[in-house]
Amino acid sequence: TQTTHKNFKGVEKTVYGRGSFSQLDEILAPRRSDNQGYFVFLVDNYFKGKSLEGQVPVHHEDLTYYISVEEHEPTTDQIDELRDEILAKKGLPSGVVGIGGGSIMDIAKALSLMLTNEGSSTLYQGLNLIKKPGVYHVGVPTISGTGAEVSMTAVLTGPVKKLGLKCEWTVFNQIVLDPELIASVPRNWWFYTGMDTYIHCIESENGRMNNAYSHAYAEQAMKLCREIYLGENSGQTTENDDKLMVASMMGGLSLTYSEVGVCHALSYGLSKILGTRHCYANCLIMNHLADYYPEGVAEFKQMVAYHQIDLPQGLSNDWSDDTITQMAHISYNLPHMWLHAIGDNWQEVITIDLLKDLFRRL
Ligand code: NAD
Ligand code: ZN
Repeated sequence: TQTTHKNFKGVEKTVYGRGSFSQLDEILAPRRSDNQGYFVFLVDNYFKGKSLEGQVPVHHEDLTYYISVEEHEPTTDQIDELRDEILAKKGLPSGVVGIGGGSIMDIAKALSLMLTNEGSSTLYQGLNLIKKPGVYHVGVPTISGTGAEVSMTAVLTGPVKKLGLKCEWTVFNQIVLDPELIASVPRNWWFYTGMDTYIHCIESENGRMNNAYSHAYAEQAMKLCREIYLGENSGQTTENDDKLMVASMMGGLSLTYSEVGVCHALSYGLSKILGTRHCYANCLIMNHLADYYPEGVAEFKQMVAYHQIDLPQGLSNDWSDDTITQMAHISYNLPHMWLHAIGDNWQEVITIDLLKDLFRRL
């Protein structure tokens, strides 16, 4: 028998609301006797010295890592080293808690899996390659938009591939959605990361995998995005932060049951070759995709203009033909996205030359 419909495991438990982060200690308590009886906290380095540092429910036996996500997106080496160090120090933990943006969400998911699966994480980049369930893991997002809090993938950049560890066990056991945590996000990141959700919806909706289930999530997430990024009540307000956390989750669920498309396919090429951050790369590319998503791109441009976001042009002037060719090959090699966005005949429509022309628009 052949699987034709997606059958996915969701996050097991979700707590939502302002101040819900204060419940974390209580949430972890029943797990504290598992394995070697300690938790690993992975916290975005931004919070070092901020008030949140004092609110993380660390017990004396726990390990805490403050991780900088500024220089690069999560890598396979980074996960392997962290795993080896933790196991050597204290053995198998009761669980892993990630507190941060999409990067920390992915590090927490990947670490949970790699603590129980031997060898390098590069061996497991792809679908259903993981052999054993990971340890209990909890996601506490502090910047909203990627949907990484609800997705079944942990995207890692390796020597060969930028590809997720993707399987049922990747999904968080618990997420804590506390909109207070995203209040401090800088305005430009608030925009780029929020636009990732909007783009997830546009791409999910415009392709053959779209269905009533993914559509319902996309429609609601886009409605929230319009309230947050367009019109008189738009901006980084408490009400909008409440909405953005929900939009991120729903945009993520929409694409889980459908698929992303042209913007994400190109974005992977750009990120893999030049290291451009996912959400920012999407914004740079979406600006030039009116041929594929006329309405979505028009509205995206309205949001860019409304918030006076500066999206640079002419970037490709500095790229060699070789660089652009490499990007085009990475993008071409994502058939599931092209099948969704273009259809069965995608290879007749999408060629390396066409992709190179699209990159030259940047
Ligand atoms: P991020 O985690 O890379 O963080 C972006 C910046 O915001 C960093 O400088 C960080 O320190 C800062 N930051 C985070 N929270 C903050 C806060 N509350 N206040 C102030 N600053 C804060 O951002 P992201 O855009 O959420 O994540 C991007 C990553 O997510 C990429 O690595 C991408 O590959 C991954 N991703 C994963 C999925 C998935 O489904 N697993 C989907 C899309 C993207
Ligand atoms: Zn995305």
